[in-house]
Amino acid sequence: SDSHFPVPVAPSQVDYSLHYPQLFPSSDQDDGSQKIKFADIGCGFGGLLISLSTLFPETLMIGMELRDKVTEYVKERILALRVANPGQYQNISVARTNSMKYIPNYFEKGQLSKMFFLFPDPHFKEKNHRRRVISMHLLDEYAYALEVGGIIYTITDVEELGEWMKACLEDHPMFEALTEEDLEADPVAKLLGSATEEGQKVARNGGQTFQTVYRRIMPNI
Ligand code: SAM
Repeated sequence: SDSHFPVPVAPSQVDYSLHYPQLFPSSDQDDGSQKIKFADIGCGFGGLLISLSTLFPETLMIGMELRDKVTEYVKERILALRVANPGQYQNISVARTNSMKYIPNYFEKGQLSKMFFLFPDPHFKEKNHRRRVISMHLLDEYAYALEVGGIIYTITDVEELGEWMKACLEDHPMFEALTEEDLEADPVAKLLGSATEEGQKVARNGGQTFQTVYRRIMPNI
Protein backbone atom coordinates (compact mmCIF):
# COMPACT_ATOMS: atom_id res chain seq x y z
CA SER A 1 0.00 0.00 0.00
CA ASP A 2 0.95 3.67 -0.13
CA SER A 3 2.53 3.66 3.32
CA HIS A 4 5.48 1.63 2.05
CA PHE A 5 7.07 4.24 -0.17
CA PRO A 6 8.37 7.67 0.77
CA VAL A 7 6.52 10.69 -0.56
CA PRO A 8 8.25 14.08 -0.81
CA VAL A 9 6.36 16.61 1.33
CA ALA A 10 6.68 19.27 -1.41
CA PRO A 11 8.22 19.63 -4.90
CA SER A 12 11.19 21.47 -3.37
CA GLN A 13 11.93 18.31 -1.37
CA VAL A 14 12.22 15.99 -4.39
CA ASP A 15 15.85 14.83 -4.27
CA TYR A 16 17.20 15.45 -7.76
CA SER A 17 20.61 14.06 -6.76
CA LEU A 18 19.00 10.64 -6.28
CA HIS A 19 17.22 10.70 -9.62
CA TYR A 20 19.85 12.41 -11.79
CA PRO A 21 23.16 11.88 -9.95
CA GLN A 22 25.44 12.92 -12.81
CA LEU A 23 23.55 16.18 -13.32
CA PHE A 24 23.10 16.91 -9.60
CA PRO A 25 26.18 15.46 -7.86
CA SER A 26 24.92 16.52 -4.42
CA SER A 27 21.63 17.82 -3.10
CA ASP A 28 23.16 21.13 -1.91
CA GLN A 29 24.27 21.91 -5.46
CA ASP A 30 20.67 21.78 -6.60
CA ASP A 31 19.74 25.46 -6.82
CA GLY A 32 16.30 24.62 -8.19
CA SER A 33 17.04 26.18 -11.59
CA GLN A 34 16.54 22.96 -13.57
CA LYS A 35 13.32 21.11 -12.99
CA ILE A 36 11.57 18.00 -14.23
CA LYS A 37 9.56 18.97 -17.33
CA PHE A 38 8.04 15.69 -18.57
CA ALA A 39 6.05 13.18 -16.49
CA ASP A 40 5.07 9.73 -17.77
CA ILE A 41 2.16 8.66 -15.59
CA GLY A 42 1.91 4.89 -15.10
CA CYS A 43 5.15 4.50 -17.06
CA GLY A 44 5.18 0.68 -16.88
CA PHE A 45 8.48 -0.69 -18.18
CA GLY A 46 9.78 2.71 -19.23
CA GLY A 47 9.96 2.48 -23.03
CA LEU A 48 8.69 6.01 -23.58
CA LEU A 49 11.23 7.59 -21.21
CA ILE A 50 14.03 5.76 -22.96
CA SER A 51 12.91 6.98 -26.39
CA LEU A 52 12.44 10.56 -25.19
CA SER A 53 15.76 10.63 -23.32
CA THR A 54 17.87 10.88 -26.46
CA LEU A 55 15.27 12.94 -28.35
CA PHE A 56 15.33 15.63 -25.61
CA PRO A 57 18.75 15.18 -23.97
CA GLU A 58 18.53 18.51 -22.10
CA THR A 59 15.12 17.81 -20.55
CA LEU A 60 14.58 16.17 -17.17
CA MET A 61 11.87 13.50 -17.18
CA ILE A 62 10.34 11.14 -14.66
CA GLY A 63 8.12 8.10 -14.83
CA MET A 64 5.59 7.49 -12.06
CA GLU A 65 4.70 3.89 -11.44
CA LEU A 66 2.63 2.22 -8.75
CA ARG A 67 4.03 -1.31 -8.96
CA ASP A 68 7.15 -1.83 -6.90
CA LYS A 69 8.76 -4.54 -9.03
CA VAL A 70 8.07 -2.69 -12.25
CA THR A 71 9.62 0.45 -10.77
CA GLU A 72 12.72 -1.49 -9.72
CA TYR A 73 12.97 -2.93 -13.22
CA VAL A 74 12.87 0.54 -14.77
CA LYS A 75 15.55 1.77 -12.34
CA GLU A 76 17.82 -1.12 -13.31
CA ARG A 77 17.13 -0.59 -16.98
CA ILE A 78 18.11 3.08 -16.77
CA LEU A 79 21.26 2.29 -14.76
CA ALA A 80 22.33 -0.30 -17.34
CA LEU A 81 21.77 2.19 -20.18
CA ARG A 82 23.84 4.80 -18.34
CA VAL A 83 26.71 2.34 -17.91
CA ALA A 84 26.60 1.16 -21.53
CA ASN A 85 26.30 4.71 -22.95
CA PRO A 86 28.46 7.07 -20.88
CA GLY A 87 26.95 10.55 -20.64
CA GLN A 88 23.57 9.43 -21.94
CA TYR A 89 20.29 8.59 -20.19
CA GLN A 90 21.21 10.88 -17.30
CA ASN A 91 18.00 12.87 -17.71
CA ILE A 92 15.44 10.11 -17.02
CA SER A 93 14.32 8.51 -13.79
CA VAL A 94 11.39 6.76 -12.15
CA ALA A 95 9.51 7.15 -8.88
CA ARG A 96 7.36 4.56 -7.23
CA THR A 97 4.24 6.45 -6.33
CA ASN A 98 0.49 6.70 -6.66
CA SER A 99 0.04 9.43 -9.25
CA MET A 100 -3.61 9.81 -8.34
CA LYS A 101 -2.59 11.11 -4.94
CA TYR A 102 0.85 12.64 -5.12
CA ILE A 103 1.27 14.73 -8.29
CA PRO A 104 1.22 17.98 -6.22
CA ASN A 105 4.02 16.59 -4.02
CA TYR A 106 6.30 16.27 -7.03
CA PHE A 107 5.53 19.24 -9.28
CA GLU A 108 4.84 22.85 -8.55
CA LYS A 109 2.42 25.08 -10.37
CA GLY A 110 3.18 25.33 -14.08
CA GLN A 111 6.31 23.19 -13.84
CA LEU A 112 5.62 20.53 -16.48
CA SER A 113 5.61 20.96 -20.23
CA LYS A 114 4.38 17.45 -21.07
CA MET A 115 2.37 14.74 -19.32
CA PHE A 116 1.86 11.26 -20.76
CA PHE A 117 -0.92 8.76 -20.09
CA LEU A 118 -0.12 5.85 -22.37
CA PHE A 119 -2.36 2.80 -22.23
CA PRO A 120 -3.73 3.48 -18.74
CA ASP A 121 -5.70 0.78 -16.98
CA PRO A 122 -9.28 0.88 -18.33
CA HIS A 123 -11.31 0.19 -15.15
CA PHE A 124 -14.28 -0.95 -17.18
CA LYS A 125 -16.96 -1.14 -14.50
CA GLU A 126 -18.92 2.01 -13.87
CA LYS A 127 -18.26 1.88 -10.14
CA ASN A 128 -14.51 1.84 -10.88
CA HIS A 129 -14.53 4.85 -13.22
CA ARG A 130 -13.40 7.00 -10.29
CA ARG A 131 -10.12 5.08 -10.44
CA ARG A 132 -9.38 6.21 -13.97
CA VAL A 133 -6.27 8.37 -14.22
CA ILE A 134 -8.09 10.91 -16.38
CA SER A 135 -11.15 12.49 -14.77
CA MET A 136 -12.45 16.04 -14.44
CA HIS A 137 -11.10 16.24 -10.91
CA LEU A 138 -7.64 14.94 -11.82
CA LEU A 139 -7.51 17.21 -14.87
CA ASP A 140 -7.70 20.15 -12.43
CA GLU A 141 -4.50 18.83 -10.84
CA TYR A 142 -2.82 18.22 -14.19
CA ALA A 143 -3.78 21.73 -15.35
CA TYR A 144 -2.14 23.08 -12.20
CA ALA A 145 1.10 21.14 -12.75
CA LEU A 146 1.30 21.99 -16.48
CA GLU A 147 2.60 25.30 -17.84
CA VAL A 148 0.32 27.24 -20.17
CA GLY A 149 1.02 25.69 -23.58
CA GLY A 150 2.00 22.38 -21.95
CA ILE A 151 0.63 19.22 -23.53
CA ILE A 152 -1.22 16.12 -22.31
CA TYR A 153 -0.84 13.00 -24.45
CA THR A 154 -3.17 10.02 -24.06
CA ILE A 155 -3.50 6.76 -25.98
CA THR A 156 -5.45 3.55 -25.37
CA ASP A 157 -6.60 0.48 -27.23
CA VAL A 158 -9.91 0.54 -25.33
CA GLU A 159 -12.35 2.58 -27.40
CA GLU A 160 -14.65 3.37 -24.49
CA LEU A 161 -11.74 4.66 -22.40
CA GLY A 162 -10.51 6.69 -25.37
CA GLU A 163 -13.90 8.35 -25.63
CA TRP A 164 -13.95 8.96 -21.89
CA MET A 165 -10.52 10.63 -21.87
CA LYS A 166 -11.42 12.75 -24.87
CA ALA A 167 -14.75 13.81 -23.33
CA CYS A 168 -13.04 14.82 -20.06
CA LEU A 169 -10.41 16.88 -21.88
CA GLU A 170 -12.97 18.40 -24.25
CA ASP A 171 -15.21 19.48 -21.35
CA HIS A 172 -12.40 20.88 -19.26
CA PRO A 173 -12.03 24.68 -19.62
CA MET A 174 -8.24 24.60 -19.35
CA PHE A 175 -7.53 22.27 -22.27
CA GLU A 176 -7.95 22.52 -26.03
CA ALA A 177 -7.29 19.89 -28.71
CA LEU A 178 -4.22 20.21 -30.90
CA THR A 179 -5.04 20.72 -34.57
CA GLU A 180 -4.01 18.22 -37.24
CA GLU A 181 -1.17 20.57 -38.25
CA ASP A 182 0.05 20.80 -34.64
CA LEU A 183 0.08 17.02 -34.43
CA GLU A 184 1.95 16.67 -37.71
CA ALA A 185 4.65 19.03 -36.41
CA ASP A 186 4.98 17.27 -33.03
CA PRO A 187 7.72 14.61 -32.98
CA VAL A 188 6.35 13.13 -29.76
CA ALA A 189 2.79 12.50 -30.98
CA LYS A 190 4.17 9.98 -33.48
CA LEU A 191 5.79 7.94 -30.72
CA LEU A 192 2.74 7.32 -28.57
CA GLY A 193 1.69 4.04 -30.15
CA SER A 194 5.15 2.57 -30.62
CA ALA A 195 7.49 3.64 -27.81
CA THR A 196 5.99 1.72 -24.88
CA GLU A 197 5.82 -1.98 -24.17
CA GLU A 198 2.03 -1.91 -24.05
CA GLY A 199 1.85 -0.03 -27.36
CA GLN A 200 4.17 -2.58 -28.98
CA LYS A 201 1.99 -5.42 -27.71
CA VAL A 202 -1.16 -3.80 -29.10
CA ALA A 203 0.61 -3.19 -32.43
CA ARG A 204 1.81 -6.82 -32.63
CA ASN A 205 -1.76 -7.98 -32.12
CA GLY A 206 -2.99 -5.57 -34.77
CA GLY A 207 -5.17 -3.67 -32.27
CA GLN A 208 -6.71 -0.27 -32.95
CA THR A 209 -5.62 2.70 -30.85
CA PHE A 210 -7.35 5.92 -29.83
CA GLN A 211 -5.19 8.94 -29.19
CA THR A 212 -5.95 12.41 -27.82
CA VAL A 213 -3.52 15.29 -27.47
CA TYR A 214 -4.56 18.47 -25.67
CA ARG A 215 -2.89 21.73 -24.78
CA ARG A 216 -3.12 23.52 -21.45
CA ILE A 217 -4.64 26.94 -22.12
CA MET A 218 -5.71 29.98 -20.16
CA PRO A 219 -9.48 29.73 -19.91
CA ASN A 220 -11.57 32.64 -21.23
CA ILE A 221 -13.20 34.23 -18.24
N1 SAM B 1 2.40 3.31 -20.00
C1 SAM B 1 2.95 1.95 -20.03
C2 SAM B 1 2.92 1.39 -21.41
O1 SAM B 1 2.27 2.00 -22.29
O2 SAM B 1 3.55 0.36 -21.64
C3 SAM B 1 2.22 1.02 -19.03
C4 SAM B 1 0.78 0.74 -19.32
S1 SAM B 1 0.06 -0.37 -18.09
C5 SAM B 1 -1.35 -0.97 -18.89
C6 SAM B 1 -0.59 0.78 -16.88
C7 SAM B 1 0.44 1.09 -15.81
O3 SAM B 1 -0.05 2.11 -14.93
C8 SAM B 1 0.78 -0.10 -14.93
O4 SAM B 1 2.17 -0.30 -14.93
C9 SAM B 1 0.25 0.30 -13.55
O5 SAM B 1 1.00 -0.25 -12.50
C10 SAM B 1 0.34 1.80 -13.61
N2 SAM B 1 -0.56 2.51 -12.69
C11 SAM B 1 -1.86 2.26 -12.50
N3 SAM B 1 -2.38 3.10 -11.60
C12 SAM B 1 -1.38 3.92 -11.22
C13 SAM B 1 -1.29 4.99 -10.29
N4 SAM B 1 -2.33 5.39 -9.59
N5 SAM B 1 -0.09 5.61 -10.14
C14 SAM B 1 0.98 5.20 -10.85
N6 SAM B 1 0.95 4.19 -11.74
C15 SAM B 1 -0.21 3.56 -11.91
